[in-house]
Amino acid sequence: MNSKIYLSAPHMSGYEQEFINEAFKTNWVAPVGPNVNGFESDLENYLKSSSYATALSSGTAAIHLALVLLDVGKNDEVICQTKTFVASVNPVNYVGAKPIFIDSETETWNMCPDLLEKALQDRIKQGKKPKAIIAINLYGMPYNVKRIHTIAKDYNIPVIEDSAEALGSSYNNQPCGTFGDYSVLSFNGNKIITTSGGGALISRDQTNKEKAIFLATQAKESGLDYSHKTIGYNYRMSNIIAGIGRGQMKVLNKRISARRKIYNYYYQQLKHINSISFLQEPEDYFSNRWLSCILLETETMRNDIMNILNENNIESRPSWKPMHLQEIYNNHPSYINGVSEELYKKGLCLPSGSGLTETDLERITSIIKSYFG
Ligand SMILES: *Cc1c(COP(=O)(O)O)cnc(C)c1O
Repeated sequence: MNSKIYLSAPHMSGYEQEFINEAFKTNWVAPVGPNVNGFESDLENYLKSSSYATALSSGTAAIHLALVLLDVGKNDEVICQTKTFVASVNPVNYVGAKPIFIDSETETWNMCPDLLEKALQDRIKQGKKPKAIIAINLYGMPYNVKRIHTIAKDYNIPVIEDSAEALGSSYNNQPCGTFGDYSVLSFNGNKIITTSGGGALISRDQTNKEKAIFLATQAKESGLDYSHKTIGYNYRMSNIIAGIGRGQMKVLNKRISARRKIYNYYYQQLKHINSISFLQEPEDYFSNRWLSCILLETETMRNDIMNILNENNIESRPSWKPMHLQEIYNNHPSYINGVSEELYKKGLCLPSGSGLTETDLERITSIIKSYFG
């Protein structure tokens, strides 16, 4: 049996261990210390334009804190892209609010601006103006930043940019992670860079960064007597974990070009097959190509290919199952055009880890090619 090819395996650079060793040597084995500060400034320098990073235990925690900071609470409504990983949406429930789902556009697979506008008009007519919009850069592809943010501005609703999959992507040469009132990054094991588990909340000014740190450390008031006036959380990133992040930031640009090369390889090898189409970059969009996704002509074809790859010890996955089709969310108001369901049924994510070799890629594409004869 050939060795297993994973969808998106962690890819260490070697630098991580040095930062971890330093933390042990200096006994910064805590959720505070030089690696936490260093990782945050690495992220801030990378994103530039008014980005203030708070390193956290997960991307999910970052979304939760963004909602708390925007004062989203009980019975509020929050607009969310239906096509996503469930972590984008669950925090809406943590604060007692209700997600309202918006379907995708075909160009980016992300939130359809027309449906967003329709939904906002409809919710407002019902007397329930949404408190926030969670927009998502899925698979590394930026959403339609210009239109989504114009609409959000027109209706005066803040945007949480879920960039968990899109560190290194950009729209109109501006990095993803800089567009939201708050933006969210994830460093889970499968992401473009990883700290094994972790995330960051990106605020637009220092004051909100300080509020995020305050909430992430149990909202302890200054002074030594453990006074609390606000409900807080234990969400800070460990200084050990942040050391992995600092090592990974040194190779982020390499990881982006490796993933983009993988996408291009699939594209060159498979574009001639009529039953396969690709999620291509519209003009002014730059994707980190976190996962390379293809769209098959039918669901059967997609399942066949997934099964054959699996028999050959190669991991692939259907694209995210939309939230409005999930048992936990299918009774929520949804504004649907059918695109996300179609993408779910016919979409396939191919192995995309930056550590894949040319031999791995040949193995994968030759199996897909032989399926089509
Ligand atoms: C991974 C991911 C998250 C959550 O990040 P964690 O660090 O795993 O909590 C949120 N949204 C999207 C779109 C993701 O892919």
